[in-house]
Amino acid sequence: MISSVLPTYSRAPLNFVRGEGSWLIEADGRRFLDFGSGIAVNALGHAHPALVARLKHQAETLWHVSNLYNISQQQDLADKLVDLTFADTVFFTNSGTESCELAVKMARKYWYDHGQPEKVDIIAFEGSFHGRSSAGIAAAGAEKLTKGFGPLIPGFVQVDWADHEAITSSITHKTAAIIIEPLQGEGGIRPLPDHCLRKLRKLCDEHGVLLILDEVQCGVGRTGKFFAHEWSGITPDIMMVAKGIGGGFPLGAVLATENAAFGMTAGTHGSTYGGNPLACAVGCSVVEHISDPSFLEDVRRKSALLIQSLQSLVSSHPEIFEDVRGYGLMLGLKCKLQNTEVLAACYGQELITVPAADNVIRLLPPLNLSDEEIGEAILRLDNAASACKETLKETT
Ligand SMILES: *Cc1c(COP(=O)(O)O)cnc(C)c1O
Repeated sequence: MISSVLPTYSRAPLNFVRGEGSWLIEADGRRFLDFGSGIAVNALGHAHPALVARLKHQAETLWHVSNLYNISQQQDLADKLVDLTFADTVFFTNSGTESCELAVKMARKYWYDHGQPEKVDIIAFEGSFHGRSSAGIAAAGAEKLTKGFGPLIPGFVQVDWADHEAITSSITHKTAAIIIEPLQGEGGIRPLPDHCLRKLRKLCDEHGVLLILDEVQCGVGRTGKFFAHEWSGITPDIMMVAKGIGGGFPLGAVLATENAAFGMTAGTHGSTYGGNPLACAVGCSVVEHISDPSFLEDVRRKSALLIQSLQSLVSSHPEIFEDVRGYGLMLGLKCKLQNTEVLAACYGQELITVPAADNVIRLLPPLNLSDEEIGEAILRLDNAASACKETLKETT
């Protein structure tokens, strides 16, 4: 008999009942160190007092009004994001994949309204992830996402990751945009080198193609800059945001330049919940904390500490780990064993990590974790690796 919750997830047998900072408490009382953050969502950990206060205050004031009216929390958050980034304008969504929908619609509408309706194609990349909506799966293109869900939305092509030649040769008179994650998350913590992103920007400019960055996972302080593309010095035309920006409250956004948003006039797009007062009030608080230069500097400092400790972990367990990937606090350990085995061993040590493609386990701790918690995670990873070694011995 089918479970009352649609069985689309394979879930670990864990029931978390409370969260405190970097910790999740299981129903049986065990305290797990959370290096998953709900997949890069709880950017300020669990139950951050400032976010709780902001949400409580908003809950007592106003939950929801339609986008038929002005929403001051939405206006405040948009103003902040415009101040802090390349963007001139922001649309709020509830999730990453909704941000993908608008990014794609915006790019196509741009060319339509510029009298080039043939420009509809969007170039994406192998190993990418843009969410589970019809446009999201068509963009990523991987069989594990698309199989059985055809006919897919036409107009998407995928090229090899970071293959500049392939990108160049796939641009045609029909290309509307290129969509890319500056640092692939689901794909296995695969960073795009800065020089590649700069070359991509140049290529887009030469061919009059819009550049869409998917910073749903790598944005909002995760890499030690407010947004990951800031490392390369380039700016996109359109950017997808979600996950960390709500700090755990469902919130997403599409940021765009005035030029790229050209076609998005009144009536062309909308969302009932997008930009909801509760979500935007919390989002304002998240952005105030994370965009603070001293906060971001501390993320970079902790990143250096964590990477250094992970590198020595890898050298002490060469049978288990291959290397450390990523930057900021968006890191991955490429495994030699099946990554799911390492993940399970981490659960055994009451440490939460997240699996990714390419046999990687992701480490996505809250951005405000303490140095002691970094030390504790390394200890637990070390114990997990030793436990994996024991099972290796037993089976050989
Ligand atoms: C998670 C993710 C998405 C999809 O976000 P949802 O909120 O799950 O729809 C899109 N792009 C990237 C890079 C992601 O990591």
